[in-house]
Amino acid sequence: MRHFSYTRAETVSEAVAALASDPQAQILAGGTNLVDLMKYDVAKPGSIIDINKLPLKQIDELPNGGLRIGALVSNTTVAYDPRVQERYPLLSSAILAGASPQLRNAATTGGNLLQRTRCYYFYDPSTPCNKREPGSGCSAIGGINRIHAILGASEDCIATHPSDMCVALAALSAVVEVEGPQGKRDIPFADFHRLPGDRPESDNTLAQGEMVVAVRLEGNHFAGHHTYLKLRDRLSYAFALVSVAAAMEVSDGKIVELRVALGGVAHKPWRDMLAETEFAGQPAEEVTFRHIAQRLLAGAKGQGQNDFKIPLAEKVIVRALKQAASGRPQVQSVKAIQ
Ligand SMILES: Cc1cc2nc3c(=O)[nH]c(=O)nc-3n(C[C@H](O)[C@H](O)[C@H](O)COP(=O)(O)OP(=O)(O)OC[C@H]3O[C@@H](n4cnc5c(N)ncnc54)[C@H](O)[C@@H]3O)c2cc1C
Ligand code: SF4
Repeated sequence: MRHFSYTRAETVSEAVAALASDPQAQILAGGTNLVDLMKYDVAKPGSIIDINKLPLKQIDELPNGGLRIGALVSNTTVAYDPRVQERYPLLSSAILAGASPQLRNAATTGGNLLQRTRCYYFYDPSTPCNKREPGSGCSAIGGINRIHAILGASEDCIATHPSDMCVALAALSAVVEVEGPQGKRDIPFADFHRLPGDRPESDNTLAQGEMVVAVRLEGNHFAGHHTYLKLRDRLSYAFALVSVAAAMEVSDGKIVELRVALGGVAHKPWRDMLAETEFAGQPAEEVTFRHIAQRLLAGAKGQGQNDFKIPLAEKVIVRALKQAASGRPQVQSVKAIQ
């Protein structure tokens, strides 16, 4: 049996102080990922900081028409909040594409950002895994790698980030508010998760002792032209093989502004902002969408069992862009691709 201490934080500063005082400490939010990892003996926290009493459960209006979502707002509450549904339907849709109603009721906004990869070897302590045990090797390279990365992988890790919600947050250029021993700071969503490089044990850019307190949505809502399209092995209750959050502004049949983020293909939600800018002004039609897909996948590399993801991703990107352009987003309760 492994022993750990348990603290229920009453304030954010109390949680930050407890987190900063012990490098082995871990935050407990909904517990839907952390508790599983502890049962598998993958996570071995020396102390647990339960943050469920913190006042981080509100969705607040921002003066610019945006929304500030507290780190403890459940995935269900975000998905069904009328303001999110009206202003940021892409986010609502992506959340509803993930997990199950029971899990979404328990899972929190902060926990969703910080959930760990679903690489089979990461969950099996009897196998080498650089993310779980730095320097031990990567069993997925040359092993079972059907669900693994085709973009941004390294020779030390080819894992993917499993979140659906984060793919929409990436496309919407959300901002992550964090608080730590040095105070508060904002992290643009594109900089929050990292590629594995030679430090795959580190999923994100949080400093020691920092925690997520909120996620801010500002700027373009893309309520008119958006979609979240997710392909998976089962029609529901499965992680993405490839997913696409697509959003655009269209005028006179031309793309004015474009956002495309990919899930299930890299260690972080994958977005190429330069490519998005370059396609502004192009006709919003299939031939352009195919060029966008090819551009996004230019550096894609399979690992053997996951080679199928490259042509699959091209098809999903094109289909998602068609859905977004036509203003007919994928309805998550309809399992067939629309
Ligand atoms: C069977 C199953 C199917 C699933 N399917 C999907 C799916 O299809 N799509 C999808 O996107 N997700 C899916 N999930 C994952 C689920 O969405 C996550 O487990 C959930 O979002 C994690 O949130 P939580 O609040 O429970 O986090 P916890 O389990 O409490 O924490 C997860 C991690 O985040 C850290 N953490 C939590 N809050 C904070 C904070 N505020 N600041 C800093 N660190 C923090 C914890 O220390 C821990 O390391 C699935 C999960 C299961 C079990
Ligand atoms: S892909 Fe990453 S998480 Fe999976 S075994 Fe390799 S190092 Fe571990």
